[in-house]
Amino acid sequence: MSELFDQLIPMLERSAALTAALALFEWDAETLAPEEASDNTGKIIGILSNDYFHSLINPEVKLLLKKLEEPDHNKQLTLEQKAVIKQLRRTYDQLASIPGREYSEFCELANKSSSVWAKARENNDFKSFEPYLEKVVEYKKKFAGYRLKAEGQKEDPDAIYNVLLSDFEPSLSTKELDDFFELIKEELVPLIQEVAEKKDEIDDAFNSQSFDIQKQREFNTFLADYVGFEKEKGVIAESAHPFTTNLHNKDVRMTNHYYENNLITALFSTIHESGHAIYEMQIRDDLTLTMIGAGASMAVHESQSRFYENIIGKSKEFWKPIYNQLVENFPEQLKDVELDQFVKAINKSLPGYIRTDADELTYPMHILIRYELERALFRDEITVKDLPQEWKKKYTKYLGLKEDTDTKGVLQDTHWSGGDFGYFPTYAIGSAVAAQLYYFMKTQMQFEELLEDGNLAQIKKYLGEHIHQYGMIYDMNELLQNVTGEKFNPSYYVKYLKEKYTKLYGLD
Ligand code: ZN
Repeated sequence: MSELFDQLIPMLERSAALTAALALFEWDAETLAPEEASDNTGKIIGILSNDYFHSLINPEVKLLLKKLEEPDHNKQLTLEQKAVIKQLRRTYDQLASIPGREYSEFCELANKSSSVWAKARENNDFKSFEPYLEKVVEYKKKFAGYRLKAEGQKEDPDAIYNVLLSDFEPSLSTKELDDFFELIKEELVPLIQEVAEKKDEIDDAFNSQSFDIQKQREFNTFLADYVGFEKEKGVIAESAHPFTTNLHNKDVRMTNHYYENNLITALFSTIHESGHAIYEMQIRDDLTLTMIGAGASMAVHESQSRFYENIIGKSKEFWKPIYNQLVENFPEQLKDVELDQFVKAINKSLPGYIRTDADELTYPMHILIRYELERALFRDEITVKDLPQEWKKKYTKYLGLKEDTDTKGVLQDTHWSGGDFGYFPTYAIGSAVAAQLYYFMKTQMQFEELLEDGNLAQIKKYLGEHIHQYGMIYDMNELLQNVTGEKFNPSYYVKYLKEKYTKLYGLD
């Protein structure tokens, strides 16, 4: 037992409680809050955020943290306590390196910039957004610079981008991302072209008929339950864009969005968000509500949602036991659609402009493009002004698409408007981690048979025992090493996509 660590506990519990309260307000704002709530609620959020800041950034925490990091004290701590200290250090440095006044200026700017972005996207007007994005980028450079100074300035031209990346995926550097995307480019660009030439082979016209929203809601509720979302520990609501957040392991909030003329989109949002939710629900009781009581990183989280969505949910074996039930819900619309055709339709690949509509094969290209642009921006190789043109050039180069509007181009995603640079790569890394886990799990269990038998519980149990329960005790590479015996290895991802799409489009 460490007395020093015990002294820290009430402060950490306070910060965890405030984090949960803030998450609930955020979820509420996107789902149920009335239209006029935002100004007053904004004030409450401001006060809670300030309390959160001071619950961690104060002389008492600073001193305890420093003492607990000293080797003599540190070696007395348990594995879990060491992980808490490591995470506390990361959070402390992130929060404390930025002067308070600049931080609130930035929050205000980010808020304004996001609403300017939403209008700019609507009006295809990048020029109106440009000055805000320029300021956001300046702040991010400045803030990352403070962190570099604290850690000892490095000469690396990617030093700034590495700091941004580390906020979302601490176990990967720009160098490793370069290798990853190089492999993707080399192996996938030719396959995407080959598949695009066969674009008329898969008929998915059935998906644009009218599908009653209430009926969709009912089927998707069943589907969430079927894959393992526990309704006693979670709530499903609706929002403009589906997302999942958690208060703790027994209160996980997820959302969906239904489209009358598109059945498939909501099905896969359900499976994707359920993957995120199942992760949070299976975190150990002694870790939840601590600093390490959430998913290991953005990339690991995304690996779990994509494992469910793509590897499980887009397989024929998964749909075999439940496809009839979907047909019973929509007998008119699906009467001539056999299971084989449905499975082909949900996997259809076609280069398009919109990242969130992309299929599994073209998806990493959307991320590659954003990665190259972000990185060039933070290396000062391009400026914010250049983004729309550079964006279009890359869509032509990698996906063979001609110029289009900025609404469908550089303005399509919200991330940059709020300053989330370094976030996009975690989506593609997540897909790659999912493929690596998949090939290993196939050596441990009859994976496809379990799906055909509707036995998803066994897969969920495996992920719970090997990944979910640990929260943030281990990072991405440690988890992969512990489970599969090797660190992150993107070759499985390439193998997976090649095998899948070669078979689907009969390219042999
Ligand atoms: Zn996700």
